[in-house]
Amino acid sequence: ARRKYVVGNWKMHGVSADILEISGIASAAAESSNVDVALCLPATLIERAVRSVSGFSFGGQDVHQEAKGAHTGCVSAPMLLDAGASLTIVGHSERRAGQCETDQQVRAKAESALGAGLDVILCIGESLEVREAGQALSTVQAQLDASLPHGEGAAAGVPAKFAIAYEPMWAIGTGKVASTADIREMHSALRERLVAAYGDAGNEVRILYGGSVSASNASEIFAVDDVDGALVGGASLTAEKFVPIVIAAA
Ligand code: 13P
Repeated sequence: ARRKYVVGNWKMHGVSADILEISGIASAAAESSNVDVALCLPATLIERAVRSVSGFSFGGQDVHQEAKGAHTGCVSAPMLLDAGASLTIVGHSERRAGQCETDQQVRAKAESALGAGLDVILCIGESLEVREAGQALSTVQAQLDASLPHGEGAAAGVPAKFAIAYEPMWAIGTGKVASTADIREMHSALRERLVAAYGDAGNEVRILYGGSVSASNASEIFAVDDVDGALVGGASLTAEKFVPIVIAAA
């Protein structure tokens, strides 16, 4: 059986004063021993968080596909590891849209991060236009197929260190959650693609849902087949909001 995985994505939020929230979240996570919990922080906060809070997993929100070089403003997998991170998100829709990242780049990032030893959460999800045009399933499946890691990087991390996050773009930060029927349909379609790509190992890859997850809807979402946890934005910023979501997964 797949262990539930609840991950906070702090996006561009968080300074040293927020360590108090992080330690509150880490204490609650330590009590929920059947759930894996992590926080993906701004790169500037990772090392401080690692030094201040022990026994908890921290990650980055993006990673460059190369280990080093002339890439102003970017952070590599060895740098994240050096800061004490154990995972990273790749392919978040805010980067696909805001930084014009392609499936091919996302795949290269996933392969590089897995090859370096980081756990990877690969994000996919459709826009409102695509959903309204009835093309959500085919679009997201194509996105998955094109951004899935293969080769040496994948061999190093799939399935144990690799997870997918299905995040419909219209549900992110809007308070509009996808219906459980839509989530079930999408996650089961994604499971099929993972098995097609990786064989039996595809059954062990965790598929998280993301998009306006909160204490009030988490239990219902976690009960859906093939939902193995959540990637949480706004509701991960404080212990008060995030801890009940962790408990709902336990
Ligand atoms: P919200 O939980 O704020 O909707 O954000 C979801 C998300 O984008 C997590 O990566």
